[in-house]
Amino acid sequence: MIINMREGASEQEIQHVVDRVKEAGYQAHVTRGTERAIVAAVGSNGRRHELQALAAAPGVAAVVPIAQPFKLVSRQVKPDGTVVDVGGVRIGDGSFVIIAGPCSVESRDQLFSTASAIKAGGAHLLRGGAYKPRTSPYEFQGLGLEALELLSEARRRTGLPVVTEVMSTEDVELISEHADMLQVGARNMQNFALLRRLAKTNRPILLKRGPSASVREWLLAAEYLLAGGNQDVVLCERGIKTFETETRNTLDLASLALVRELSHLPVLADPSHGTGRPTLIAPMSRAAAALGADGIMVEVHPCPERALSDGPQSLDLDGFSRLMRSLAEPLRAVARGWDRS
Ligand code: PEP
Ligand code: MN
Repeated sequence: MIINMREGASEQEIQHVVDRVKEAGYQAHVTRGTERAIVAAVGSNGRRHELQALAAAPGVAAVVPIAQPFKLVSRQVKPDGTVVDVGGVRIGDGSFVIIAGPCSVESRDQLFSTASAIKAGGAHLLRGGAYKPRTSPYEFQGLGLEALELLSEARRRTGLPVVTEVMSTEDVELISEHADMLQVGARNMQNFALLRRLAKTNRPILLKRGPSASVREWLLAAEYLLAGGNQDVVLCERGIKTFETETRNTLDLASLALVRELSHLPVLADPSHGTGRPTLIAPMSRAAAALGADGIMVEVHPCPERALSDGPQSLDLDGFSRLMRSLAEPLRAVARGWDRS
């Protein structure tokens, strides 16, 4: 249930509602919006009537049910968009954030040449896999700690904050020492033990959509993070499995627009995994910008044909700089407001 406070409700009135929500056995989450505060009562114990009765409490405007199964991620609970700060880069503030880098960190040269090229091209964050979720156990699994140390060094050299994937609860602490943002890969979107553990870190999370997950399941996975105490969550649409085989996955552009409607969390597009085709990265990135997505994540490699993972979908360094040039005008147009009608 949501308890909408009146405009100008006092702190005392808000606290009274919070106390009553807790007495009724629910968790109370307060959101202070630009106009008024909202208290979300989350839980399920059959004592909803006690919440409904709060309609008569001082300072309360209305008590309404939360329409969706996800609660804390919903726009109903928090009408203003969330801004997530990743090492000084703000995601969700209306700017278009570019995360770029290799699928896997493979060597010092490969990572540093990519990092300096994407920095020069205008990227805001560096990505690179250290622990890789590979379909086959015989494929390259990532350099682990060595990759993390290279990522840390690349951050020191370029100033770009770093995003890398965490696959296991055991690695959370170590990876947090080296990365500014922790990625939950598509295959782990519903790894609830991992989500619960990540809810307790102070690192922002990039939560990719599972290849076969509905938008509702994806937002419920994000709910685990918020309910467990981590509010700094960015969603990433990376394509879903459909009957189409010409593209590696089907980048679900509608989900980007839908998520913006349903949730206050920022959302990115990953056209690299979402299409599997370098030629589709620029058009899909422009589409994501037009839809109001908060940015993109793209894979870049100095020599895609030699890449140890995801070479066929990676941009080379020139390809990345062409992508950035091709985004300049659409982003100016978006800033002028043609997508927001
Ligand atoms: C990746 O970002 O390299 C990756 C493995 O992505 P996903 O989890 O979306 O497949
Ligand atoms: Mn990849």
